[in-house]
Amino acid sequence: MLLHTINEVRAQVKEWKKQGLTIGLVPTMGALHDGHLSLIKKAVEKCDRVVVSVFVNPIQFCPGEDLDKYPRTLDADNKMCDDAGVSVVFAPNPNEMYGEGQMRTNDFLTYVIPPFFYVNKLCGKSRVGHFDGVCTVVNKLFNIVQPDYAFFGQKDAQQLIIIKKMVKDLNIPVEIIPCPIVREESGLALSSRNKYLSDEDKKEALVLSKILNNINSCYKKGVTDVEALKETAYEFLNEHHELEYLEFMNQEDLEKVPQADNNTRVFIACRVGGVRLIDNILLGE
Ligand code: AMP
Repeated sequence: MLLHTINEVRAQVKEWKKQGLTIGLVPTMGALHDGHLSLIKKAVEKCDRVVVSVFVNPIQFCPGEDLDKYPRTLDADNKMCDDAGVSVVFAPNPNEMYGEGQMRTNDFLTYVIPPFFYVNKLCGKSRVGHFDGVCTVVNKLFNIVQPDYAFFGQKDAQQLIIIKKMVKDLNIPVEIIPCPIVREESGLALSSRNKYLSDEDKKEALVLSKILNNINSCYKKGVTDVEALKETAYEFLNEHHELEYLEFMNQEDLEKVPQADNNTRVFIACRVGGVRLIDNILLGE
């Protein structure tokens, strides 16, 4: 069932709660692919009822980013969800979520701001305000859908860590379920933004997973010094790649580590053909 308004979703949720059913939420920006589908399948397996939100959230885009050209494929998304056994696809428009005219200014909107320590690094460094927008919309979705479980992909590992922190700090009664990264056979992590890549760029985009896999195999051979592991990336980079960051951090709290261990996640962001791509790997996996 495709719903566009908060009131309709609330009425449905009220009915489910009355019946004692468990509710799962999968927040997305649409243009659904097999990565999203893996979250949806997990949710359908675990919960009596599943809501998938499809909302290109304006307040998590920074000026100059791809808000206007972000792919929007609601009909196909709705069909994919239907086929997977989703109960409700919630696709509000920005005015429904934020009220007319309020969404692109923090003068009029109440925001949920995650801690500086968690956002002043990795994607948060170049995308200033991005995680404020993410936490605000996810919090709103939690309040609207009141899910028992919410499903997030490891593909956006910083986001997942920040959402977990928000849930803990604000005592939000929801369990966050992390889901593994789904990749093409080539190794490329699935992403809605892969649609922007030409065939040639797609080959070049393999650089992210190649660097991460190579670092992981060096680690498995016994190299733990982060600087030495970082060095190994350079043999893969060429003029088609614009490396934004390659960082080694404790996967619980995003603290930088000088020596890698099985709790270290390696994060990479790189531009290929003008498209900003991210990926990550847990060492030892
Ligand atoms: P998005 O629509 O890009 O905001 O993503 C919605 C959710 O799907 C987020 O929790 C993402 O981490 C997750 N997701 C996106 N791509 C993948 C992938 N390749 N594997 C696993 N989860 C993914």
